[in-house]
Amino acid sequence: MRVYNFSAGPAALPLPVLEQARAEMTDWAGSGMSVMEVSHRGAAFRALAARAEADLRDLLAIPDNYRVLFLAGGATLQFSAIPLNLAAAGATADYVNTGTWSGKAIADAARYLQVNVAADAVGGGYTGVPPEALWHKSRDAAYLHYCANETIHGVEFPFIPQTAEVPLVADLSSTILSRPLDVSRFGLIYAGAQKNIGPSGLTLVIVRDDLLGRARAELPPVLNYALQAKEGSMLNTPPTFGWYLAGLVFQWLKAEGGLAVIGARNQAKAESLYAYIDGSGYYTNPVAHSCRSWMNVPFRLPRAELEATFAREAAEAGLVNLEGHRLVGGMRASLYNAMPAAGVAALLAFMRDFAARHS
Ligand SMILES: *Cc1c(COP(=O)(O)O)cnc(C)c1O
Repeated sequence: MRVYNFSAGPAALPLPVLEQARAEMTDWAGSGMSVMEVSHRGAAFRALAARAEADLRDLLAIPDNYRVLFLAGGATLQFSAIPLNLAAAGATADYVNTGTWSGKAIADAARYLQVNVAADAVGGGYTGVPPEALWHKSRDAAYLHYCANETIHGVEFPFIPQTAEVPLVADLSSTILSRPLDVSRFGLIYAGAQKNIGPSGLTLVIVRDDLLGRARAELPPVLNYALQAKEGSMLNTPPTFGWYLAGLVFQWLKAEGGLAVIGARNQAKAESLYAYIDGSGYYTNPVAHSCRSWMNVPFRLPRAELEATFAREAAEAGLVNLEGHRLVGGMRASLYNAMPAAGVAALLAFMRDFAARHS
């Protein structure tokens, strides 16, 4: 039985994508092999790679002066790759701290440059985004980094920061492809695949041309954006299966109607859940309304003792991975692109029933 998987990551993938992967698992594109067994330098895989990039460019309307890299190592490796590619030792970069993931990015970057925390939401318990007018940006920042959607706290930026000529760098791991995006506002976008793109092990980096070539000499070549761009992300063997599956996800998104359609669907899913939580008098979500994530919805029960029961009964009803992150507790429902509206409806029905039985 296929369950409704509310995991924050690795997360649910679209069923048609999984079914296609299964159908061509042992004989991909007439090769008599799985896609995992073919050469990444062969014509067939190169065509796959080119199509995946073209489809992603189409979906996000990525301007021509941006390079798209399909890298290994997860979003976490980019926490280090970004300062090492974009800033000299001793340079300053601005970071906005809005939760666990931006906090980790700050800790890693601080090993390579001076971090100026331009704004910090820790005082509010990571329940919102400090207004940009109150940020303390440095005058000579190499870039400004923020996490557009804090996967653990369920906080999403309701705006794209204004940084004038300072390159804007964004961790979009848990919100990329959830709705249309103006890529031209960014210097660099990165995202681990396992939320809204494909399997873990693949990381997307979308970087503006003029930011290539600033890397420090000691940087390992595989982490060097300019070298990877020059080699078509094939400086060494890329995560081929992840690239393939991401390509299938991009095709699925296009077949569904593209990001405007997907975005409207995601908004409706999230709003139905928040509206129920707010009106329930039972469940609560602490995040400022303007900053509530469409992708990750944390919520609490009236008593923490009920959490284990909630998770167990939900799983029995086919609704799995609703436990909150171990750092923050509570519950969390992740509603990525692959979560159908029917899954959210099933969750709402379960939550109503649970509240009635455990008041
Ligand atoms: C999951 C996540 C990460 C970490 O991704 P890894 O691929 O595990 O390194 C970083 N940032 C955000 C916003 C995430 O959701």
